Parts: sequence; C-alpha cells; structure tokens
Amino acid sequence: MTQPTETAPLLEIKTLTKHFPVYRQGLVRREIGRVRAVDNVSFNLYPGETLGLVGESGCGKTTTGRTILRALTPSSGEVWFNSADTRTNLAGLESKQLKPLRRQMQMIFQDPFSSLNPRMTIGDIVGEPLRIHRMARGAVLRAQVAEMLHRVGLNPEHASRYPHAFSGGQRQRVGIARALVMRPQLVIADEAVSALDVSVQAQIINLLEELQTEFNLTLLFIAHDISVVRHMCDRIAVMYAGKIVELAKTDELFENPCHPYTRLLLSAVPLPDPDKKMHFPAKGQVVDLSRLPTGCAFHPRCIHCKENCRTYTPDLYDHEGRQVACHLYAEQDQF
Ligand code: SF4
Repeated sequence: MTQPTETAPLLEIKTLTKHFPVYRQGLVRREIGRVRAVDNVSFNLYPGETLGLVGESGCGKTTTGRTILRALTPSSGEVWFNSADTRTNLAGLESKQLKPLRRQMQMIFQDPFSSLNPRMTIGDIVGEPLRIHRMARGAVLRAQVAEMLHRVGLNPEHASRYPHAFSGGQRQRVGIARALVMRPQLVIADEAVSALDVSVQAQIINLLEELQTEFNLTLLFIAHDISVVRHMCDRIAVMYAGKIVELAKTDELFENPCHPYTRLLLSAVPLPDPDKKMHFPAKGQVVDLSRLPTGCAFHPRCIHCKENCRTYTPDLYDHEGRQVACHLYAEQDQF
C-alpha cells in the first residue's frame, strides 16, 4: 500500500470545476442555468495508489474522471500531472499538446458492450492505441497485442474474433488490455465492473489488482457501490452533488464514517449479519445538479441539519486525519 504523505503525487487536482450551461430553447437561445457536475474538487493521487471515487449516480464522478483526462474541457481549475521530471497542467493544454501525454493516461469504460467497436476484431481494438501513437506496427504490434491478451486472461489465438463472440467479462478484459497495452502510468476505471455479474466482478477486480502490481499502475476507481471499492482502494473519496464530502483511508472510512452521506451509503451495503448493519435514516431524493439548494447540498436529506447548514456551504475540513465537508466537524474542531 502506498504511503501517500511520503511521495510526490502523480496527479494533483486543484479546485477542478465543470459546469454545463442549460439553454432555453426558442428563437433566442439564452442560458437559463448551469448543471454543476463538478464543483471545486481537489485531491491528490499518489504513485501506485488506488483511490476510490464513490457516490450515487449523477453525483459527478464520471464527469470528474473525464475532465481529468481532458475528454471534457474543465470550466476552471488545475490538473497537474507529474511524470518523471516534468510537471504539466493538463487543464491548460491544447489537444495537440495533450496527444503525447495521452499514452500515459488511459480509461477503462463501464459498458463492455458499447465501448468496443463491433466492426473491429479484438486484435485491432487492442492494437489501435499502439498504431495511433506510432509505438509499434507489423509483427511487433501483433506480438504486443498477443502478450497483452494473454496477460488479461484471453486466448491470443482469438485476436481475429469480433466483440460479439465474447461474454461481458471477456469484453471487459479486452477493454483492460486496450487501456494497458501502452503501459500507462495512470488508469481511470469508470464503473469498470458495474455492468457485470457479481462472480465476474470479483474476477475483474482481482485481475486489476494483479495488473496494478505488475505494471505499477496508479488507479482512480470510480464506482457507485461503495462495497465494490472497499477491497481494492487505499483511500476513498465520497462525492455528493459535484463535491467531495469525505476523503479518508478505506479502513478508517468503513470503521468510522463521519459525513452523514457516507453513513447513508454504508447503510445500504448488504452484510451477512443484519445485526451488524449500520442503519442511517435519511429523507428526500437525489439532488438535481441544475437546482442545488443553498448551503450544504445534502441539507434537505440530512437528519442533523441545523440553521447554518441551510445558509453556508461547508468547506472540506481536516478532521482526525481525514477530510470532511460538514459543519458538525467544523464546530467540533473549533472548540
Ligand atoms: Fe448535514 Fe449540516 Fe453536515 Fe450538511 S453540513 S451534512 S446538512 S450536518
């Protein structure tokens, strides 16, 4: 496990923000609001570490991952990528300048059915990044593709087959092979196991853990199910309404969740012994990112809500070795 404080971060996210304007349709197109998908998000990711980014659907996790990799242009903020002796702010680069850096950062997508081109063989799919970045061709490329297919548990002799000939788990292995064939430093796995059966999920998680050790990968693992990230993440960042509300080491987060929303997520995790289950009542519905409430965005659902929660948005406070965005802890730490 990485010791985050002892090494320089590979990735430094500083006040990253991504808003999508909402327009009124009609003769005159006018902006009438904003979807605040990612709002002032800051965290570090250390070499060899796995950081889980969790929260319910629509909280901005995927947008955060896509904005870090510059599949989306940030509205504001900085994304510092530290590689060897260079330090680059990805947020400020043009697409031409980004191209050489893209080989060091790859993404594994959620849906293994729609993320693979059905008209390409899996050999071509896995080899495509090598061709685009002119890293290999001909027999060398075929050998690298075969090696990577073997490494992810697929038969290299099946490289001439098309995606429809494979199961969901096998297709996700193809997606992983494609992401890793260029030996990236950073991989963002976006709900990489959510579309799979539970038994296949375990196989893919085990495979990712093996590959992380073998290739010395740094992983940002995005998931809506907090129980999935528990076994593979060193730290977990919990996201709600576009903001990180708690960031802690995995064991500490599960043993002593601080933010009421983290407790709500953990109360939904099924346990073999129901008596040990955490019960945390909550009210209300998932928040609409285009119409956020004032103050703490979780306040309409929070049983601890007080007057200042409705008015003031809590910052991410340092609290007992973790970070929590909740007025409960700001008050405790002040006195
Ligand atoms: Fe609940 Fe207030 Fe904390 Fe928000 S700031 S989570 S409303 S106690």
